[in-house]
Amino acid sequence: MSLDWESNPPYSNVKQDDKLIKYNASCYCGLVKYVIYDEYPVDSTYCHCHGCQQLQGAPYQWACIFPKTSLYFLSGLDSLKFYNSDENNQDHILPCKVSCKQCSSPLADEGRRMWLAFPQTFKQFRLSETVREKLKASCHIFYGQRTISSDCFKNDGNRASTCIYAFTDPFYPSFTLPPAQPNSPGDVQLNKNNPIRLANGSNLAVGQGCNSRTFSYYETNSEQFLTTYIDINRQNSSIVDIIYATNHDQLYVRTIQLNQANLASFLAGKILKIDLNCNNGLLGCAYFTVESSSSNTLPTILTSGSISSQSIMSIIMLNLLCMHWLKNHSYIS
Ligand SMILES: [Zn+2]
Ligand SMILES: [Zn+2]
Repeated sequence: MSLDWESNPPYSNVKQDDKLIKYNASCYCGLVKYVIYDEYPVDSTYCHCHGCQQLQGAPYQWACIFPKTSLYFLSGLDSLKFYNSDENNQDHILPCKVSCKQCSSPLADEGRRMWLAFPQTFKQFRLSETVREKLKASCHIFYGQRTISSDCFKNDGNRASTCIYAFTDPFYPSFTLPPAQPNSPGDVQLNKNNPIRLANGSNLAVGQGCNSRTFSYYETNSEQFLTTYIDINRQNSSIVDIIYATNHDQLYVRTIQLNQANLASFLAGKILKIDLNCNNGLLGCAYFTVESSSSNTLPTILTSGSISSQSIMSIIMLNLLCMHWLKNHSYIS
C-alpha cells in the first residue's frame, strides 16, 4: 500500500495561474474538486469492456487521458476513495480507480504517469458542445463487448483508429491463438470473418493492402511494445513470425510450435499490434487482443501463406494514440 500518495503527483502538484485552468472537475457532491491545465487530452477512449460497464454503471466508459502533471487538487484529498481491481482492495496501488467517499461518483482511473479523467465530471464538458468535441474519443476499445447498438457509433468511423488499417467489426477483435503443435497444420486467417479495411471506415480498393513489417505486444510493466519474450527454455525468443499479413488484405497467425508452448497464454489479455507496409506507400498498423485462454482444438481454417519481409525490432516505442492501457479492467499508464 502506498501510504504517501498525497506527496506524489497529481496530489502534490503546485498550483498554477487560474488563467491557465481549462477544466474544473468535481465529484457529484462537490467535496472533491480539481482543475486541469491542459486543453487537449493525450488521448481519449471509449472502453466497452464488461469491467468498465459494471464499475461505471454505464454502457461504456469515456476516459480522457492527461499527464498527472497537468492537474491540481483544490479540495477533497481526504474524501478520495481508491479501488484496485487486481488486489480487490481500497489501497492506493496503481493503477487504481478513484472516486468520492461521500457521493461515490467515479472521478478517474489513476495510472502510473497518466490520469484517465471521466469528462462528465468537468463543468465545461456539461456546458459546451465545443468542449465535448475537443475531448471526443479517438477510438473504441473492447468493442466486441459493447452492449449498445453499433449504430450509435456510425459517425465515429473516421476516428476508429490511428492505424491506417482496422478490422471491420469489431475494430479491436479478440482472437484465440492456436495451441502448440509439433507440426504445423496450417495457419489461421485472423480476419476471415472480419476483414480489414482502411481505418476511416472505407473498404480497400482492389489491390490495396499491406504486408507485415513486424508484430509486437504491449508490455504493461515496461510500457513498451516488445517483439521478444522468455520462452519455456528461459531463452529470449522472437515472436515476430507468429503473426503476419500477406495477400495485401489478410492477417494470419502461425500455428504455435512446441518450443513456444507458453506463448498463447503469455500473450493472453495483451494488446497486440501488427505493423504493416502498405502498397499505397504508407506505414500502417492494426490492433487486436488475445483471448485469455488458448484453444484446445486444432484450428479449422487451413491456408497457406508466405511471410513478407520483416524487420526485427526489439522495442517499439509506445504509441500513445489510440492504445488501450487496460489490464483486468484497470488502466496502466
Ligand atoms: Zn462527492
Ligand atoms: Zn474498460
